[in-house]
Amino acid sequence: MTYKTYGFTEHQVMVRDSILRLLQDVLPPEEIEALEAKDAYPIEAYQALADAGWLALPFEESYGGANASHQDLAAFIEATAYHHPGVTSAFMTTCIYAAMYIQYHGSNELKQEFLPPIIAGARRMAVAYTEPQCGSDAAGIKTRAVRDGDDYVVTGQKVYITNAHQADYLVVTAKTLPDGGHRGISLLIIDTRSPGLTIRPMNSMGRRTSLPNEVFFDEVRVPANYLLGGENKGWKKLMRGLNLERVLLGAASCGQCLKIIDVARDWATDRQAFGRTITEYQAISHKFAEMQMMTETARLHTYQAAAMLDEGIDAVLEASMCKVIATENNFKVADMGVQIMGGAGYMEGPMSRLFRDARVGPIGGGSSEIMRNVIAKLMGL
Ligand SMILES: Cc1cc2nc3c(=O)[nH]c(=O)nc-3n(C[C@H](O)[C@H](O)[C@H](O)COP(=O)(O)OP(=O)(O)OC[C@H]3O[C@@H](n4cnc5c(N)ncnc54)[C@H](O)[C@@H]3O)c2cc1C
Repeated sequence: MTYKTYGFTEHQVMVRDSILRLLQDVLPPEEIEALEAKDAYPIEAYQALADAGWLALPFEESYGGANASHQDLAAFIEATAYHHPGVTSAFMTTCIYAAMYIQYHGSNELKQEFLPPIIAGARRMAVAYTEPQCGSDAAGIKTRAVRDGDDYVVTGQKVYITNAHQADYLVVTAKTLPDGGHRGISLLIIDTRSPGLTIRPMNSMGRRTSLPNEVFFDEVRVPANYLLGGENKGWKKLMRGLNLERVLLGAASCGQCLKIIDVARDWATDRQAFGRTITEYQAISHKFAEMQMMTETARLHTYQAAAMLDEGIDAVLEASMCKVIATENNFKVADMGVQIMGGAGYMEGPMSRLFRDARVGPIGGGSSEIMRNVIAKLMGL
């Protein structure tokens, strides 16, 4: 296997091995194919992670969490993504994207209400910022939240919301001060069973087991105690989790790169052309060398950024670089994987899926262009 653990602690090796074993048991390859064919969320694998205690990783110990380091989380995410990115996405949408806002900015009551059921796998969440007219420009949202007695009344629309169709609650950005720019944004937790809320799955190129959704809010009433971090104070709260998200998106891409190499290698070492195994042709073996180098480059950046965050460094530059390098290398490695497998790579199956799944990396969670803007700005340009 291509999946090296040089530099891992014993604990991280244990994390990797345990996750690969557990997911192989609960979600074997034929089950992945079945889920993909039905666009189905990997609920059994998600619940198995919860039952084995893995969902506790990023949470404070006082709420039942394991307070994992960024490097341990990266090792965990890399292993889940190696097995199947739908499982990674299920974990990320609930336990990282949504729940970290509650952990960082929620009152003790909200933490008590939400974190233990999330850790048990009994409550799933998603985050909703993007709207039809704005994604990168996240402060340009039009969704409104108007205070009315003990509630906020929310009206507006979100798009591309991963796993919203599987969520019990959403963390939503809304304008509480319509002309306030990023100073007018608040964060609200919204129950997906609320009257006036509609969720519609969308038809995406890849990642079919963690579908994006349109979400419509038609005068949805939200209790005011579900406001996270104070009225008009949402923007700074949004920024707080970005380093962690970028590093973990990098780790997910690393896991996918490792898988692509293994799938391509299994196929290529068996494939004959002109009387030889195709890996005997330098045109093919050099592609493998290139894939290996791109993968290890992505891993070096990912684990270095994670180590810096563990040291308490605000590693915005390194986290942004890691996100660009890992997601873009993931797509390049997938493209080479398809090329190595020829027609078999283009047909429906693991490699063409790995290729489609990789395409979202440089778009979601802060596009490559936005990451390069951040990097250039930090270089003083
Ligand atoms: C599969 C998938 C899942 C997603 N899941 C979620 C989710 O769960 N929750 C959520 O809220 N959102 C989600 N998103 C939305 C995602 O975060 C946005 O798609 C992303 O931020 C880009 O926004 P946009 O699509 O509106 O593109 P735009 O912002 O319109 O950008 C279009 C193009 O212009 C470029 N661009 C924009 N501004 C600049 C600039 N200043 N400088 C240089 N280039 C620029 C972009 O990089 C991009 O190439 C998801 C998207 C996808 C595809």
